[in-house]
Amino acid sequence: MLAFLLTLFQSVEPAPKAPRPPNIVHVLADDVAWDDFSCYGSRDLVTPNVDRVASEGLRFTDFYAPSATCTPSRAAILTGCYAQRVGLTQVLFPTSEVGLADSEVTIAELLKGRGYATALVGKWHLGHQPQFLPTRHGFDLFFGIPYPNDHGPERLTSKEPRVSRGFPPIPLLRGESVVEQPAQLASLPERFIAEARKFIAEHKDAPFYLQLSNIETHTPWLVPQRFQYKSQAGVYGDAVACLDWAVGELLDELAKQGLDGDTLVVVSSDNGPLVHRYPELEGIYGHAATVDPERRHWLRDGKYQARYEGGTRVACVARWPGHIAPGGVSGELVAGFDLYTTFARLAGAELPADRIVDGNDLSALLLGRPEDFNPRDTLFHYENLELVAVRNGNWKLVLPRKTGERPELYDLEEDPSETTDQSEEHEDFVARLLELCELAREDLGDSKHGVEGRNRRAAGRLVK
Ligand code: MG
Repeated sequence: MLAFLLTLFQSVEPAPKAPRPPNIVHVLADDVAWDDFSCYGSRDLVTPNVDRVASEGLRFTDFYAPSATCTPSRAAILTGCYAQRVGLTQVLFPTSEVGLADSEVTIAELLKGRGYATALVGKWHLGHQPQFLPTRHGFDLFFGIPYPNDHGPERLTSKEPRVSRGFPPIPLLRGESVVEQPAQLASLPERFIAEARKFIAEHKDAPFYLQLSNIETHTPWLVPQRFQYKSQAGVYGDAVACLDWAVGELLDELAKQGLDGDTLVVVSSDNGPLVHRYPELEGIYGHAATVDPERRHWLRDGKYQARYEGGTRVACVARWPGHIAPGGVSGELVAGFDLYTTFARLAGAELPADRIVDGNDLSALLLGRPEDFNPRDTLFHYENLELVAVRNGNWKLVLPRKTGERPELYDLEEDPSETTDQSEEHEDFVARLLELCELAREDLGDSKHGVEGRNRRAAGRLVK
């Protein structure tokens, strides 16, 4: 009888809930070096919160930003494609009249289609006119600045006579409305975090996607007063400490709302760091844009160039308690646009079937099913429309700047700092890699070779 009653009781229990797709929080750091987090071996920065994401999840050693500058990298991350494919290959300015095309399907749109609430807090940089803003690309909420923190009226032309570039004061937008101009830049990190925490709290019962795109690690390095002059790595170090605090705040809010096990947190960067002094910015922002040329990085060179690792190889850590095993390290060759495909798969969203998507699905790798993971063996590096390097396995071929010069070949496993060119010892392999470059040219083009590329789509044009 008791057994019967128990059966009866069980039969009226609600059916088990279908597993909820994960919330996704992506912290997209601006211009932070691969080795500027302590979990990546920083020599002078301590980043306990990013380290915590790594130690409670997975750390990628060979993750590449899709570009060495902001706009193309962000276009690629949001569309799952090489930036060359979606037509945004250069940094946009407040005078630009292009942006992310309407026809592109962003990850925010894919997730929104699966019932996600979506927010972008921080920097956008994919077109500042209303038709290009995050609100037109699948984000329910946008609170931030439409382009970088160094695109204000203080900027002068780089060539003589040095005159104003005509940039307006930087606006702070909520949705599509300017709520402050000039935006009070040093106050923004804390206001962005308050907004992000509020968004998480308000959407704790439904899946959400939040991209927090910080600005303080991009020159000028302006931080709230309590972070100033604290880091032994100077003002840039203060900015990284502020970013690390921001990551901690988000983790804190997720824990407070009981969402740890329901939320994938990813921290990555859009490109490598500024490593050379930049006199124009120094002249305007003083110490807030003065690079310390004595500071050493493991990887060669930095932002603005994609030939060497420092421009594109960046940190990426991912945490999802109960789903991603803690303390993992992956040396797979992965790229920023893989996040698109991965987030879509985890959310149960179909990828657009009518176009090429370059992103690889990393979900099996994250979830500890390496047997189901289909690894990538080749990744191409571009500067604007010029193919400049290809990575294949652990090898990297750097294409020459000038016609007639030899390409360089590096073994990244033995020589991640790219100090020893091995091209003369491996001529057959160099020839094979050059054949791979021809495939990239046919697909994505190469301005240096006058090749247009068959599979490129146009950027959005301003409709006046
Ligand atoms: Mg950047």
